[in-house]
Amino acid sequence: MATTATEAAKAAPAQEQQANGNGNGEQKTRHSEVGHKSLLKSDDLYQYILDTSVYPREPESMKELREITAKHPWYVPLAFRPVVRGGFECVGLLDVDRPRSENERGVACRNLMTTSADEGQFLNMLIKLIGAKKTMEIGVYTGYSLLATALALPEDGTILAMDINRENYELGLPCINKAGVGHKIDFREGPALPVLDDLVADKEQHGSFDFAFVDADKDNYLSYHERLLKLVRPGGLIGYDNTLWNGSVVLPDDAPMRKYIRFYRDFVLALNSALAADDRVEICQLPVGDGVTLCRRVK
Ligand code: SAM
Ligand code: CA
Repeated sequence: MATTATEAAKAAPAQEQQANGNGNGEQKTRHSEVGHKSLLKSDDLYQYILDTSVYPREPESMKELREITAKHPWYVPLAFRPVVRGGFECVGLLDVDRPRSENERGVACRNLMTTSADEGQFLNMLIKLIGAKKTMEIGVYTGYSLLATALALPEDGTILAMDINRENYELGLPCINKAGVGHKIDFREGPALPVLDDLVADKEQHGSFDFAFVDADKDNYLSYHERLLKLVRPGGLIGYDNTLWNGSVVLPDDAPMRKYIRFYRDFVLALNSALAADDRVEICQLPVGDGVTLCRRVK
């Protein structure tokens, strides 16, 4: 089992290393050039951030939830079998495990879905900074980003949390309740789009949300966007997660890519272009986790 980002990077298949560098430790990047402004040059640097600034400040309940999630194998059909590669836990795709049973065509994976600890810390800070009170989350999984949000909200703050899978949510729920923030969460099991449509049909909900975090089916992000622009208040924020999509956004179309990555890549590319051209929002794309794009509603 790859336990660190560095070990996972060593375990990455050749085609993955090709996408990131030449496999001999030299990065196919401009990091060494004078004037290059990105600070994140290596997995070790990322690990340094985690070890120095994130893990020591991570609330006990979030640590516990993160550890429970890391032990939980998330079943991936073979068609969507992800990549073993280094880097970021949120899509780090670490620890591809054995198939659950000989009859099941698939693999169980860990840490495929969950938000990384540094992104959780970022979300927590962001929500406090904007003084959010009424929020929503699309794509809960075991609830790491949900807990980061719930801990940041005031006592009477609320999160409308949507996911098609209740079982995973219930895995993290004891940590959420132990942290004393369960009362802030209104969990809805099922696809998010109809819930948003119901909200949009109710004029009183328009402009009533301060913050929305979108971390579910990437093929629906643009549909969520249209609805969220009605539901989030002017000046409020929407955060779209995974907008760098495992780095695949800069790969040529014919580059080797795992099916799961390729499947959603065009949707992520279309989202990024659409957000960049959308004058109803101001945007800021951050290389946190797998990329998170913040949209501040201005119209
Ligand atoms: N934010 C979570 C965290 O911090 O761990 C990770 C969310 S995970 C990347 C994506 C989640 O979206 C999965 O739990 C999946 O069940 C959910 N999902 C997929 N399609 C959905 C849909 N149409 N509506 C709501 N949830 C959906
Ligand atoms: Ca995510």
